[in-house]
Amino acid sequence: MARDQEQHWPELEPIRTGLRGRCPRCGEGALFDGFLALRHECDHYGLNFAFADPADGPAFFVICFGCIPSVVFTLMLQIHFDPPYWVHLVTSLPFLLVTCIAPLRPLKGWLVCSQYFYKAEEGRLARPVAPLAAGPVAAVAAGTPER
Ligand SMILES: [Zn+2]
Repeated sequence: MARDQEQHWPELEPIRTGLRGRCPRCGEGALFDGFLALRHECDHYGLNFAFADPADGPAFFVICFGCIPSVVFTLMLQIHFDPPYWVHLVTSLPFLLVTCIAPLRPLKGWLVCSQYFYKAEEGRLARPVAPLAAGPVAAVAAGTPER
């Protein structure tokens, strides 16, 4: 395991590394430790995954693009054919599971790799620089004429 900080890393597209669950920097190490749990660091070159926080992003995309179509399918099946419940067990339930659980891991990998690729992090408030903040406004307030 080489931990060379001076090594040049190629820019890997997040869609390629993320969908395969690979490290966003080297593209070789595993990103996940289990189904959805992230590893602490890359097992090949040691990139720390502490930056990764996709939050509810994968669930949001699954709800939008997986849950809604499967619920619409289930409702249309029920409305048009009024099948017995076992039909839903063999059609609607597997469809719901496939469209909602299967995409979670690739979506989470894609979001984590996108965070690394685009250097996304939490926003910070910029504090005003002291000389600019106390400039003309402070002079007018003190009664000093502007020039
Ligand atoms: Zn790596």
